[in-house]
Amino acid sequence: MKFITYNARNFREIEYMRYLPKKVKTEIDIVSKVIPFKTNNYVVDYLIDWENYEDDPVYILNFPNRNMLTADQYNRLTKALNDPSANGKVNKTIYDIRMEMNPHPAQQMTNVPELDGEELKGMQHKYKDIVLFFPSQGQPCHAHCTFCFRWPQFIKDLDMKFSMREIEKVIAYIRQNESINEILFTGGDPMVMDPATLKKYIDALIDAKIPNLQNIRFGTKSLSYWPFTFLPRHNEEAGQILDILKHITDSGLHLSIMGHFNHPNELETEVVQEAIRNIRQTGAEIRTQAPVLNHINNRSQDWARMWQRQVQLGLIPYYMFIERETGPYNYFSIPLADIYRIYQEAIRETGSFAKTVTGPTMSASKGKVQIMGIVTNPLDGSKYFMMQYIRHRDYRETFKPFLMEYDEKATWVDQLKEVKTPELAG
Ligand SMILES: *Cc1c(COP(=O)(O)O)cnc(C)c1O
Ligand code: SF4
Repeated sequence: MKFITYNARNFREIEYMRYLPKKVKTEIDIVSKVIPFKTNNYVVDYLIDWENYEDDPVYILNFPNRNMLTADQYNRLTKALNDPSANGKVNKTIYDIRMEMNPHPAQQMTNVPELDGEELKGMQHKYKDIVLFFPSQGQPCHAHCTFCFRWPQFIKDLDMKFSMREIEKVIAYIRQNESINEILFTGGDPMVMDPATLKKYIDALIDAKIPNLQNIRFGTKSLSYWPFTFLPRHNEEAGQILDILKHITDSGLHLSIMGHFNHPNELETEVVQEAIRNIRQTGAEIRTQAPVLNHINNRSQDWARMWQRQVQLGLIPYYMFIERETGPYNYFSIPLADIYRIYQEAIRETGSFAKTVTGPTMSASKGKVQIMGIVTNPLDGSKYFMMQYIRHRDYRETFKPFLMEYDEKATWVDQLKEVKTPELAG
């Protein structure tokens, strides 16, 4: 079986196959033909409890299992793989199953901005104040999340090449669009970039002294998947990374590291706690975000424990997301009504400082919708979701609460019915 290990820059060969029975290895081997699989020795040696790996949240987050495919998909795949005459058919079966898993959910490739008539394909500009930048060297990740909506990027023939290296064009675009005050480096994981590349981008941005640019943020899972990025004691490049972060804050820009944490276990190792301290010493803030996922963090205690620990460690809870309809979506999805209750109970449990989190939100085509509550009409007992756009293509549409028909099974906003206004008499 081909495990993808990440040996570049201080990753060492990992040997976790010894933990797994043969049957499980075979299943991983089969399912990982469809769901791109990659893990590393930090995840394996520090985060997963191998005594109880089948229920371990980080194991499920990293290792594909057969329930992530439908029984039919799994059978078709097994059949194709075991058929010696299937040559060529195997790749077609893999491709077909991937296409059944909605590899490009709505709006992922839209909102591509233009500079002097040229499309800037490694950027996305959906909301007026912020642009996303996908540096081409930041497209891989330290390990792959089994639920990830960016998964086609990890697969050659599904990749839509949504990345770029020309920071000059990014700078020119931000300068031309004065409403932009923030750039978000995203991927993949921009923190897989080597320090020299990252420095080139950041120095250019800072030296450009763009008057409207105020904030830089990085979306990253490196604190969970490879905290050594920020540990000079373990990794000689870490000092350079921390210097780059410090250079940003010294220049007067606000720097926010958006740490992706799916489970409180990811916050418990000494190395992650040391990494957090080192980042905070650069003057950067660390804000946290993650989707709610069945089998991984579907209990309110998971979130309460996670937010409490984050606050204690100096992190700022920021977003609780609702997982997009892509990849092994059926395995991970949870009805909106249940997600709201997980949020509500977790935030009640956490106390003061979890109020900074924006409760369950979906990135839909028009913008980010937040579920504000489940409300009951006292006159007839009918139930509704109360929602609002906290981000909308048209910013005038944000922060206007509205109601949608309650549906206890719905898992995405487009499955909900709008509330009909009663016809007025007369
Ligand atoms: C979420 C998101 C942002 C950032 O939104 P915030 O509410 O400021 O965190 C920017 N661009 C896109 C396309 C997004 O989905
Ligand atoms: S780290 Fe982020 S981009 Fe990478 S696989 Fe996980 S969710 Fe996807």
